[in-house]
Amino acid sequence: MMTDPSPVSAPQAPSAPDLLAVSGLRVEIPTRHARLVAVDDVSFTIRAGEVLGVVGESGAGKTIMGAAIMGLLEPPGRIAAGSIHFDDRRIDTLPYEAMRRIRGRDISMVFQDPLTSLNPLYTVGRQLTETIRTHTDLSESAARDRAVGLLQEVGIPAADRRIDHYPHQFSGGMRQRVVIALALCVNPRLVIADEPTTALDVSIQAQIIAVLKRLCRDHGAAVMLITHDMGVIAETADRVAVMYAGRIAEIGPVRDVIKRPRHPYTVGLMGSIPAIGHDTDQLTQIDGSMPRLTEIPTGCAFHPRCPYIRDRCRRDRPELLPVGASQAACWRHVPGFDEGPAHA
Ligand code: SF4
Repeated sequence: MMTDPSPVSAPQAPSAPDLLAVSGLRVEIPTRHARLVAVDDVSFTIRAGEVLGVVGESGAGKTIMGAAIMGLLEPPGRIAAGSIHFDDRRIDTLPYEAMRRIRGRDISMVFQDPLTSLNPLYTVGRQLTETIRTHTDLSESAARDRAVGLLQEVGIPAADRRIDHYPHQFSGGMRQRVVIALALCVNPRLVIADEPTTALDVSIQAQIIAVLKRLCRDHGAAVMLITHDMGVIAETADRVAVMYAGRIAEIGPVRDVIKRPRHPYTVGLMGSIPAIGHDTDQLTQIDGSMPRLTEIPTGCAFHPRCPYIRDRCRRDRPELLPVGASQAACWRHVPGFDEGPAHA
């Protein structure tokens, strides 16, 4: 008789403690007609100093999940179940002010549009020094020195002069460098970067990712990097969580996931980075599109797009199952699956 492996939590490395622990997170968006589920039973951890990539198509729930972690869910979205711990402290139930302090000091954000983070009316220097002074007891001139140093670190030429310029006086790529400096100026322990390079020219994207990664490493910050681009993940992350229809389809060390993706959706995503070879039967594209929140299929949400579908996939929702060094939410990894009936 076939026995399903038990779902397990995300793999742990003994080297560093968990900095962020998300457990059973469910985010709902109530509407007049239904309660939509944007994030459904998501669990993962990020260790101190680690880069976790979160990848998936638009509508997979990754940005809403990032907003939930930061306490920035837009109403009527709300956390309906689960918990979020930061440094062993539960943060999803904190009052707004307490969470705002954590956001300013311990968790920083880099958004797709730099102008979300920068005030166009103030020089970048004023914004950096004010942020530094809010969270440290540095004097005005010491904070300014630190701001100049950070701008140099992120690769702004003539930083001691440019610090007195306004955001609109920088190019898009340079503005995003300023935002990275702003995100790191209080030495946060976690940086959540949501599509930090999507709005930039392709030629600039790699530079910005390199700057983000180097600075976070130098400052000892962990990173949660949210992107639709598997190529960015491949170059940057230690581990990757692949999201589909609000759930984690696959999670594991990035090298393993790239070399041997275990979920058919990940296999399809890998088709977008042909330069990186892997030895599985590769889809070059995934037919169909991410389901709307109002139309998430029963069983495995990927089943309408999956070339390996069996009856069970339409009926039963797969939990994350251990496969090699990774975990995948796919019944294919249960013995006997391929012999199952293919039609309902
Ligand atoms: Fe495909 Fe079934 Fe696996 Fe879902 S559970 S990805 S439908 S094989």
